Amino acid sequence: MKRISLIGATGSIGVQTCDVIEQHPDLFELEAYAFGTNVDVATEWINRLRPKYVSATSIEVLEQLKPRLTYEPLYFIGPEGLKECATAERADIVVTAVVGAVGLEPTLAAIQAGKDIALANKETLVTAGHLVKAAVKEYGVNLLPVDSEHSAIFQCLNGERREDVSKIILTASGGSFRDRSREELVDVTVEDALNHPNWSMGAKITIDSATMFNKGLEVIEAHWLFDIDYNDIEVILHRESIIHSMVEFKDAAVMAQLGNPDMRGPILYALSEPKRLEIEGNKRLNLNEIGKLHFEEADFERYPALRLAFEAGIIGGSMPTVLNAANEMAVDLFLNGHITFLEIERLVEEAMAQHEVIAEPTLAQILEVDRVVRQQIQQGIEGGE
Ligand code: NDP
Ligand code: MG
Repeated sequence: MKRISLIGATGSIGVQTCDVIEQHPDLFELEAYAFGTNVDVATEWINRLRPKYVSATSIEVLEQLKPRLTYEPLYFIGPEGLKECATAERADIVVTAVVGAVGLEPTLAAIQAGKDIALANKETLVTAGHLVKAAVKEYGVNLLPVDSEHSAIFQCLNGERREDVSKIILTASGGSFRDRSREELVDVTVEDALNHPNWSMGAKITIDSATMFNKGLEVIEAHWLFDIDYNDIEVILHRESIIHSMVEFKDAAVMAQLGNPDMRGPILYALSEPKRLEIEGNKRLNLNEIGKLHFEEADFERYPALRLAFEAGIIGGSMPTVLNAANEMAVDLFLNGHITFLEIERLVEEAMAQHEVIAEPTLAQILEVDRVVRQQIQQGIEGGE
């Protein structure tokens, strides 16, 4: 029996995690459930899976939740509550499904408490990859990818020797605007951007897919997860999202992992590996039906976000923190109607240009850089309005 702590439980990954846990009651038990403000979704799943720990962003949210629960868990709130859930005593593994750098501190706390991590929250590795990796090593825990591309790579690397890998090839769907030129992006709306062709996901990652910052964050995530040089990471557009990613080896053999786009696959694999379990309701791949798979170059002119992410990763130090914080802030501003779509990448580029890199930032320095970057962008917007 594996006991699971889930942070970011009411989101897209969170709910799919609850679904796979419920499908395997003999193997998994939900120990802790941390969410933000979505009381309806939380009520439903807490009553179904009966975790011992429950955390929400505020007392007010908890007060709405409590009368709707059919039993009494231990309650927590705020950032401390996220940490309490991430370090819940009996939990074996923590699924980090919050969105954004807010996942960093609970993830580090979980690692220090000896928990394995099933990582969906890519922003954590982008903003502080060196700290997370060092902690994983020091505390001897496993860091398992949930992101579909990284799960694919993880599966392709099974039984292979690390030194035989020559290249990682990340596939990218291209997001909502893949069939538009840059000129056609000038006046796109939030609604257009939220309309992803292949995946149904939270708002932030859907916008990240449209800008291609998502793939950029995934490049940095891959660098840390698989200890691979940026020169050996390639991104290719693949509109069907059937090949989830590939690994090329010394002898030019390429391994790929395929499947229909359904995040429950990678979520479950992170929880069950090396075992593979059934998922009720997932659609098997029918290549006869699909017929053709397409590939295209992901060029830096069309997708400057990809160039910026490679640059931030290669510069290293605190630069990925800047890329991530500026992007989180810019996406928020876009979603709330304060900036246009193309301003997202402009704000990230400007934040990076202004930053003086700290080579090996400590946690305190990362949190400070993150705060300052957000503040500067906020001030810039207020000044400009
Ligand atoms: P969602 O926006 O759907 O969900 C985010 C979750 O985090 C919600 O449960 C939200 O709570 C919670 N949350 C946000 N801020 C806080 C906070 N301050 N304190 C406590 N809880 C908080 O995101 P996704 O599920 O789409 O994505 C989650 C992560 O997984 C992201 O890092 C994303 O990049 C990554 N990922 C997602 C994929 C997907 O298919 N969705 C695929 C691969 C990676 P509430 O809503 O209750 O306020
Ligand atoms: Mg992905």
